[in-house]
Amino acid sequence: MSLNVRRHSTAERRVAVAAFPLALAALMVVLVCGAFGGAWLWPWVLLIGTGLISLGRFALAGRMSTTESVECGLLAAVAALALTDVSRGLASPLLYLLGAGYVLALPVTRGVPLIGAMLGLDIGMTLARSGTLLVPAAHAGFTILFAALYHALLGARLAAARKAEGEAVKNRIAEAEQSARELRLVATAEEGGERHLLAGVAEVEEVLRGTLAVAEAALKPHAVAIFLLSPDGESLRLRECSSQEDGLFRGPLSSKEGALGAVVSAGRPVRLDSEGPALSYYEGAPRVSSFCGVPLAERGGGPVLGALIADREAPFSSDDERVLVALAAEAVRAIDAERLLGAVRKEKEEKARFFKALEELNRTTTLAQAAETAVLQARRMCPALDLCAVTLSDSVNGRVRHRVLAVDGDAAQVLRDLSFADNAGLVSNVVKLGAPLPGRTLSAMDRVVIFDNATVVRGLASLKIFPLRAGQDTVGALVCGSRTRDALPESSQKELSMLALQAAEALVRTRLYDQTEKLATTDGLTGLLNRRTLNAQLLARLREAQRYRRPLAFLLLDVDHFKKVNDTYGHPAGDAVLKGVALIAQKQARETDLVARYGGEEMALVLPETDLRGALVIAERVRAACAAQSYATEQGSVKVTLSVGVSSWESGTLAVTPEELLETADRALYRAKQGGRNRVEGPRAKAAA
Ligand code: GH3
Ligand code: MG
Ligand code: MG
Repeated sequence: MSLNVRRHSTAERRVAVAAFPLALAALMVVLVCGAFGGAWLWPWVLLIGTGLISLGRFALAGRMSTTESVECGLLAAVAALALTDVSRGLASPLLYLLGAGYVLALPVTRGVPLIGAMLGLDIGMTLARSGTLLVPAAHAGFTILFAALYHALLGARLAAARKAEGEAVKNRIAEAEQSARELRLVATAEEGGERHLLAGVAEVEEVLRGTLAVAEAALKPHAVAIFLLSPDGESLRLRECSSQEDGLFRGPLSSKEGALGAVVSAGRPVRLDSEGPALSYYEGAPRVSSFCGVPLAERGGGPVLGALIADREAPFSSDDERVLVALAAEAVRAIDAERLLGAVRKEKEEKARFFKALEELNRTTTLAQAAETAVLQARRMCPALDLCAVTLSDSVNGRVRHRVLAVDGDAAQVLRDLSFADNAGLVSNVVKLGAPLPGRTLSAMDRVVIFDNATVVRGLASLKIFPLRAGQDTVGALVCGSRTRDALPESSQKELSMLALQAAEALVRTRLYDQTEKLATTDGLTGLLNRRTLNAQLLARLREAQRYRRPLAFLLLDVDHFKKVNDTYGHPAGDAVLKGVALIAQKQARETDLVARYGGEEMALVLPETDLRGALVIAERVRAACAAQSYATEQGSVKVTLSVGVSSWESGTLAVTPEELLETADRALYRAKQGGRNRVEGPRAKAAA
């Protein structure tokens, strides 16, 4: 049928839009004035006319807009009130029914205002004829009562219906899963798995029905049926049948008994004549005596899935048996093909997931990112995981330490940034052995040490820790645990171990990036920032401070008579002292401060959010801590002192450049040296004040 498309002119549309509300308004005025109670006919003509227009409009459009539904509701109110009026109150139950109808047919936001309008009109009518308000009050009471009751009942009915519908859907899926298990199809739990499963079951069922139809045509049996074995092989259930009577037993039937049992246990065709009692699949006494059954078995002597059977009064010939054998092979081929397709589909999905993970891991540039991505991908591969973590192992001074780099799941709060020494726990052992652990399901999972003795993980029912192997080295571990038993089947473990390999590569690569970056930005001897980084950072921090009008201070430290240390104790001892001084400076600084090696035995501190007064306090603290420290060398212990020059910028003063800040600190340092060393000097102007 072709589409009928037409547009009205603007004037037509305006008339159409305005006509109905105008008629409605007129009807309301007429109602309130009491015209319906009189002996006139015209108000009724107007009412019925408006009603017909409303009906016509609905019939044309096939649906009602929000405005139209309100207009229609109002018209119904006018009609009910008019009838109540003309019947001297006899028709007032119509008002109660209409109130209930509003909440039944419309959303509450429209139903309640309509009830209000109807009761308003009722009051208006009473006031217009100076009647007692008792009547509209009674109307209001009953209408509201009816509407509230309907609303409550309707809500309860809807909730119950929704629940029942949900249950029905769940049952259908459970049934499909059961069918798939019986047909030994592959059930995939991933997204879309249910859809594939249902399609697969439907496909096989179609073939099974076709098989029965052919058998029926060829053998003219009394009944022909397919029984399938339960996955444990203990029982048989009727799967499909075509029979002249309804008395076939659906199962479960024992897989060891009767003619049917003989077919599946022997795994070869069975033909019987005059053996009625052996046909155990009938609920009552069978009306036929000949039986022919062939097993549904996978090619090459695979496991028996069930049996295809036929029975009738006349005996079966060997030709009949051959027909059944051929049909059974057809049915098994369909089951096989579907299963193969399922396996291919699953493998494809696995591969797609794996390549996605690979892509994401390859994109990471920092160690933390690589670890976070590995955790995310692991959870995507195995959604049942309740605990997933990546640990990294480092050797510090010959001692192995493990660090949790990324963690997701229930224990994330506790495990984040956890660092622990090598121990007898599972993570340590996985890294040592380079193999996954535990090898089998542990019975007392709560007592297992996964990370270290101090970290207790309770409530896991399945756990596997995979080594992160890159080449010959194991750089860490991927910890996967779940509160659900069997959450880590063989296939998931395979996927996760592949992910672990890729994650290890990503960790090694990003660790190298991190190390290279560190080398480029820090000083090899002290581990402090190098001068180049200091210059860049000082510029950035100073700009930021001046833009946001926050104070910033700069300290220049120089070790006093350091040449003498070198001359007296040797250069290596001098190096050790420098490292010690760097450590003191770092300890005294705050986390947000920058500490750098400025030159030979000179160091610099950038102190954001610090004014001159604060900077002098910190400088004094570093100086005092250094003076209090002594360093052991082969020729006895050494003590060194520091001279410190301080400069700063504060809001309200002229902007300065990093060079000016440095120069001021350098001049202050010079004065500290001149003033006898082991002391702190601020800028001259402030110092003089
Ligand atoms: P003062 O600053 O108190 O005026 O005397 P000073 O002896 O510290 O003065 P100077 O700046 O002349 O000497 C700095 C010495 O620091 C010179 C150099 O041999 C030594 N030095 C610089 N870098 C290193 C280093 O990396 N290791 C060691 N051991 N010594 C270093
Ligand atoms: Mg110097
Ligand atoms: Mg010096």
